[in-house]
Amino acid sequence: MFDILTDKEVVARKAHKCIWCGEQIDWGTTYRRLTGKFNGDFSSNAWHLECSVAGNEIIDEIEAGFDAYTYQRGSTEERDVPFYTQETIDDET
Ligand SMILES: [Zn+2]
Repeated sequence: MFDILTDKEVVARKAHKCIWCGEQIDWGTTYRRLTGKFNGDFSSNAWHLECSVAGNEIIDEIEAGFDAYTYQRGSTEERDVPFYTQETIDDET
């Protein structure tokens, strides 16, 4: 269960990584900052606005928990290659 503490649209003062798609949120763009407690653990996540819209489409599923960086930007389609897998490969080289 995800308990929302704050949910607002803010202008990025530095680059962030979107929790949904794993792509960069550029400095100076508006994004959604969502903070809350997920199963008792504090979390603070950045979303592209279009990814937030996509997430709302399957809100019942993701409230039960979802893997970060799993989805395509602005879509409820999963990535072919998960972002974290790409990162792991990068770290090993
Ligand atoms: Zn995104």
